[in-house]
Order: sequence, then C-alpha cells, then structure tokens
Amino acid sequence: MLPTGACPSPDALADVRERAYATLLGSALGDALGATVEFCTQSEIRAQYGVLRKIVGGGWLRLKPGEVTDDTQMSLCIARSLAAVGWSPSDIAERFAAWFKGWPVDVGNTCRRGIARYINHGTLAGPFNEGDAGNGAAMRVAPVALATLADGRLLERWAVEQGHITHNHPLSDAACVLIGRLIHMGCTGQPRERLQRKVEDVVAKFPPFRFSPFRGLATAYVVDTMQTVLHHFLSTHSFEECLVATVNQGGDADTTGAIAGAIAGAFYGPAQLPEHWVRKLAPALLYEIQDLSGHLVERSPLGHGQPVVM
Ligand code: MN
Ligand code: MN
Repeated sequence: MLPTGACPSPDALADVRERAYATLLGSALGDALGATVEFCTQSEIRAQYGVLRKIVGGGWLRLKPGEVTDDTQMSLCIARSLAAVGWSPSDIAERFAAWFKGWPVDVGNTCRRGIARYINHGTLAGPFNEGDAGNGAAMRVAPVALATLADGRLLERWAVEQGHITHNHPLSDAACVLIGRLIHMGCTGQPRERLQRKVEDVVAKFPPFRFSPFRGLATAYVVDTMQTVLHHFLSTHSFEECLVATVNQGGDADTTGAIAGAIAGAFYGPAQLPEHWVRKLAPALLYEIQDLSGHLVERSPLGHGQPVVM
C-alpha cells in the first residue's frame, strides 16, 4: 500500500500500473458481461440463465460475445484524449462527437442530447438539468481517475468537468467523484476498510446513495446505479463475485457492470480478472487498454513522483 504523503518507489509504481490496467479492463469486462442482460429483470435473468457468469453477447443490442458498448467506448474517448493531449474537455467533446457520428451500437439519451448540444453550439457544459441524474457521466470516469492518481482535488475538478459535457447534476457529479476516489484508493493498494469508510463518509453527505437496506434497483438513475455498485462491491470478496452479483441485478447491467468492474479491477488487481472473460475481448481492445492505462499513470501526478494526497 502507498501511504498518504509517501513518494512512490519504482516497485510501487509498477503495482499501480498493473492496477490501472485492471481498472480499464475490469470496466470493459463488466460492460461486455452485463450488456447481455441490460434492461432485464432479475426473474427474467434467472429464467434464461440461472446465474449469468459468462460473457455470451446477445441482449437487446444483439452483441457478439465480448463486444463492448457506449460505456467502454466513451471511456476510451476520454482515455485516448488524456493520453494524447492531457486535460482538454474540448478535445474530449470532439472525440465524443466523432464517436457519435460513427453510428455507435448504443448511446444514452442524456449523452445524445449533450453531444448534440456540443455539435450545435460548441459549449462544453449544459445548464443544470433535473433530468441529468443518469449514470452516463459516471460510467466513463475511470480514465480521469487514472490520470489524476495521487491528487484528489484534481480528480474532483476533472471528473465533474468531463461529466458536465453531457450531465449537469449534483448527484451525477457526486457519483463521478466517489467512483474516482475509490479507483484512486484501489490503485494505491488501500485496504478494504479505507474504501468502506470513504463510502460511509460520502453516503452521510449524500443520503440518496445509502444502499443499506439494499432496495435492489439497478436503473440508469445514478442513485440506483450507485446503490447497486456500492452494495455489491462491499458485500463480495472477489472481482468475479462482485461483477456476477452486480450484473445479475439486471436493469442497466452493462453500466453497473462497467462501474463495478473499474472499482473492483483497481482494488483486486489484474490477477483476479477471470481468464475466460478476458479471452472474449478483442485483442486490439486489450492491447489498447494496456497501452492507455500505462500512459495515464505516467501522466498522473503519482507518475511524476508526487506523493499521495487522498
Ligand atoms: Mn452501454
Ligand atoms: Mn447501460
């Protein structure tokens, strides 16, 4: 574990790089696994799969096994932008626009509206909107967490700025920041109790995120999404168990899977990513995730030798 205030040794940094890889890969795996049952109810999943444990494709998007969706694609837009030019919301928005014009397999309504606003008006943030409390900004925040490792303040700023390109709502902002913080803690090897305490602190400030007793809702409303992710992350003890429990909740399963996969990937590290899942992803995607995660850590304050500030 990297203690607060300590500069990273080369060995410690190598471990962070591995965990950063597991963060992005974990997220893509959660997306690919969960997409099969996106918008299904728990009983529909039970009837068709018993428990969904394999990456089999299909679902309402009729995906090939291992195919990923907007969650991973928008994350990649941000990761590529950060690796290429550093922090530039306009470059991220440009990449969202180019992706959007390429007929992606799926795009959420709030993302669609935000990207259309950018294309038509060039603005990098919409005004506050009550309807912007979806999970579309939170699902793509992982690369921002990796690029801001060791600097919680920077994370807060960038996580919210990337979010506002499509979603302007305090609950979405809070979710983006919390997910980013948990990724920071996971990547720097903090113990479970510290992550748990962080979650408890945030839940105390944002009571809607309270997930105990768990209501079992997993819709695209960021409150439901966060409750599902936090509940399953904190009540399971392996990467695979966490993701299986999360996506079998149904609802916005690819997105809860992507977020849980990022947090659990950072926390458990690459050794826990199930080989039979990883094999399903396209080799080019695996290669790019490896490459980008390395770049993001290098560009982060931690990669520049800055001590950890939580
Ligand atoms: Mn999706
Ligand atoms: Mn989704």
